[in-house]
Amino acid sequence: MSLAMPQPDAAVLAKRAEIAADLRTIVPGEGVVEAPNEMRVFETDGLTAYRQLPLVVVLPETTQQVSRILRYCNERNIRVVPRGSGTSLSGGALPLADAVLLVMSRFNRILDIDYVNRCVIAQPGVTNLGISQAVEEERFYYAPDPSSQIACSIGGNVAENSGGVHCLKYGLTANNVLGVEMVLITGEVIRLGGKHLDSEGYDLLGVMTGSEGLLGVVTEVTVRILQRPEAARALLLGFPSSEQAGQCVAEIIGAGIIPGGMEMMDEPAIHAAEDFVQAGYPLDVEALLIVELDGPGPEIEHLIGQVEAIATDNGSTTCRISQSEEERLAFWAGRKAAFPAVGRISPDYYCMDGTIPRKELPRVLAGMREMSERYGLRVANVFHAGDGNLHPLILYDANIPGELAKAESFGNDILRLCVEVGGVLTGEHGVGVEKRDLMPVMFSQVDLDQQMRVKCAFDPNHLLNPGKVFPQLRRCAELGRMHIHAGKMPFPDIPRF
Ligand SMILES: Cc1cc2nc3c(=O)[nH]c(=O)nc-3n(C[C@H](O)[C@H](O)[C@H](O)COP(=O)(O)OP(=O)(O)OC[C@H]3O[C@@H](n4cnc5c(N)ncnc54)[C@H](O)[C@@H]3O)c2cc1C
Repeated sequence: MSLAMPQPDAAVLAKRAEIAADLRTIVPGEGVVEAPNEMRVFETDGLTAYRQLPLVVVLPETTQQVSRILRYCNERNIRVVPRGSGTSLSGGALPLADAVLLVMSRFNRILDIDYVNRCVIAQPGVTNLGISQAVEEERFYYAPDPSSQIACSIGGNVAENSGGVHCLKYGLTANNVLGVEMVLITGEVIRLGGKHLDSEGYDLLGVMTGSEGLLGVVTEVTVRILQRPEAARALLLGFPSSEQAGQCVAEIIGAGIIPGGMEMMDEPAIHAAEDFVQAGYPLDVEALLIVELDGPGPEIEHLIGQVEAIATDNGSTTCRISQSEEERLAFWAGRKAAFPAVGRISPDYYCMDGTIPRKELPRVLAGMREMSERYGLRVANVFHAGDGNLHPLILYDANIPGELAKAESFGNDILRLCVEVGGVLTGEHGVGVEKRDLMPVMFSQVDLDQQMRVKCAFDPNHLLNPGKVFPQLRRCAELGRMHIHAGKMPFPDIPRF
């Protein structure tokens, strides 16, 4: 692993067998995994470039077990990495050699379906799609829909504040989570929010959402569910240039239309997707928009007319409107298969995630083209156009020495450009280890210190998921006053990296 991570604690490594035996008294049976070959499946997450076997894996089933595990680790200064389904694309669930990997997949039950209050209470290991499936008979669903929804857990969604195609209209996880039960590193159990719409006091639920496993372990989630829209239709719009497609997106939003989803693909992504699933995409365009409108039938009819007119004004050369549910799904099939489609034209690809103000799209796409030539690596773009959330896919071959490093530098330059044009480092995949060292590009030291103070309020000994999100580990006591005098490092016992 080339990534700088906190030095493993030799004393903890030496006690591995003892720690596993102690954890077995808390989670009996098959709930503790310590054989290296059995832990291999947990050594990485969706950011597969980085791998590390954990100290030991524990799979609790109850909140009480989570509480006892965290209390045990806290009292013995043992680090803990929480994990849901392990689909993080930013390395958030990457294990540490001296840390217990706390896997939440056995928390897989729906606890309550409450149609009157329009919410579901689920354990954190339930998959995102599992929630929608649990309420589909009554024509309800859970709106945030990451492409990984068949596998990713709702606990992981809360930790990453995950998004998806439909978040433009219905909001990210943060806008759809009503409450959580969580366990602090001390083992104490707290509840934030609930079935009610707003909670008193500071918005700690907001702090927790997107906290990437650094503040506590979520053991129960209450989410809002919505009634399925009466109908949905999609438009497939092709443009000779991405500038025109970008302008069309801006004008649709500017006209007060909020589509259920508005996605854009550039030429390499269109060709890869069409070759893969034959969705019927036009191959003579440089940019393709899929605009989905949902709601009551007459409203959709009216909005289709408006979107079509805006697209024509912006020079669209293709405009197809889905005439059936099959056709609507066919329009989406290419977009949904875009990542595996790109996987067919390159041995490896690196999926980036940054967000920009919508109007900067042409500038950022031009910047990426220039970088692509400079690095000698191809890039395909698939993105949530309405949100300005980009997912450039950098194509490389890990078997060619140095290409992964080149792809990573290319990705870093893209994210720097996102920040330069007024955007942010991540839209939905989180910071994890992937963007950790770029945090100072986005935040001043004062900003980072203030965020670290929040972390310290929850986890003063930095035991929860260390090495993620923050570019440096600093003891809570030294925040804001890190002076090196006469070559002497203050707090020399802090593991730095
Ligand atoms: C093919 C593919 C497509 C994807 N598409 C999307 C997309 O469209 N939109 C999107 O937003 N993301 C997407 N992702 C990224 C990923 O699926 C999400 O970040 C997801 O929310 C991670 O959930 P998980 O259960 O796999 O969490 P993990 O990967 O296991 O963990 C992610 C983070 O959450 C923390 N965590 C997990 N569970 C808990 C818990 N119970 N308590 C506290 N912390 C916890 C971990 O410590 C880690 O920091 C995609 C990933 C893949 C592989």
